[in-house]
Amino acid sequence: MIEQFFNFSQKLLDADKKALALCKERFAQLDEIKEYNQLKMLKAFTDCRVGGNHLVGTTGYGMDDAGRAKLEEVFAVLTGSEAALFRHNFMSGTHTLAVALFGVLRPGDRMVAATGRPYDTLAGVIGLDGTKCGNLMEFGVQYDEVPLLPTGAPDLDAIAARCRGAKMCYIQRSRGYAARPALSLDEIEAISKAAKAAQPDIIVMVDNCYGEFTQKQEPTQRGADLMAGSLIKNPGGGIAPTGGYIAGRADLVELCAHRLTAPGVGGEIGCTLDLLRGMYLGLYYAPGVTCEALKTSVYAACLFELLGYGATPAYTADRNDIITSIETGSPAGMVALCGGVQAASPVDSFAAPEPGDMPGYEDPVIMAAGAFTMGSSIELSADGPLRAPYTVYMQGGLNFASARAGVLLGAEKMPGLRQEAANG
Ligand SMILES: *Cc1c(COP(=O)(O)O)cnc(C)c1O
Repeated sequence: MIEQFFNFSQKLLDADKKALALCKERFAQLDEIKEYNQLKMLKAFTDCRVGGNHLVGTTGYGMDDAGRAKLEEVFAVLTGSEAALFRHNFMSGTHTLAVALFGVLRPGDRMVAATGRPYDTLAGVIGLDGTKCGNLMEFGVQYDEVPLLPTGAPDLDAIAARCRGAKMCYIQRSRGYAARPALSLDEIEAISKAAKAAQPDIIVMVDNCYGEFTQKQEPTQRGADLMAGSLIKNPGGGIAPTGGYIAGRADLVELCAHRLTAPGVGGEIGCTLDLLRGMYLGLYYAPGVTCEALKTSVYAACLFELLGYGATPAYTADRNDIITSIETGSPAGMVALCGGVQAASPVDSFAAPEPGDMPGYEDPVIMAAGAFTMGSSIELSADGPLRAPYTVYMQGGLNFASARAGVLLGAEKMPGLRQEAANG
């Protein structure tokens, strides 16, 4: 059917057909996770007695905003957390993580990054990039890092040793822009146990960006005291226009609320404008949308593997984030693949992405995204910093039918494939 809408080479159509057949079993597993998470979601909405009145927002200080409080209650119940902040006032994933880190860490405290160097944009927050804009280190927080083992697994012995005397054990679940696998919930639980055996009062915090609803549980149900993420990724369901969440132990979430607003003020203020309905709806849809993105991720890995490119994780592998990376081998390959994804975007399909400098990133970055929400990466997007081996990170896909077209358009534009087509 797809050939009625797009002009793909026969070689690519054959690979597409083969990939769909190979992915069938994995898709069935993903559908099962989706169904579980959707029912878990429905149960949280009904158990919390969400009413029509909760969908209406407030202005000004937003005192007694029942819709905001109810939405945070739903997210806490859903994720097995004691409390949650689930708000549009978080401006990005990085901002949300920064609020959480500054919320609970104090001068003299030590944080241990248990999964190696955190995501690029955290360098400025922690103080690893030499900038001095009020980062954690300037405020006297010490930073310590345990690299992942060469296998990509956490180094539990080293984590236990470093966590002795530390205040926080910091875990990044998703791979981010790194050549490492996303962490499974079993691994998160093992890190938490190792850290707590060494230092019983340690705070285990998880950067859960891209991880939400990829499995049947969330990190707070598997040993994390605190987790944070972005609403323009999985948990906003492609509908929340901005925002982030922090969930976990009530005392820690409370500290984060005081950091988000003002010390002494806390989470009792924060008007919701006209945004609540979309945030409820997005959260409600998030398990389904995350499943579509996961299918896209599995399919893209399978298709590019069939076409002879390195893709990780393999299509057969379990998923703990929605990212698939494809080694294009050259800057031209990155531009081609990103250009293809852009061309299949519902918005701005006519744009041609080019590498450029991005605040928070060391190398020039190329980004393809034609999204209803600017910068959204639960909608199909492809990006990566321009450095060897010229890996494009693909993520998102609000629905598999159009995301598959995007993946195919990207594949069609790859220099290798075009060369072969030209040669006969
Ligand atoms: C996206 C992401 C972030 C940062 O979020 P931004 O919205 O880009 O600031 C942090 N950590 C991980 C793992 C991410 O995927």
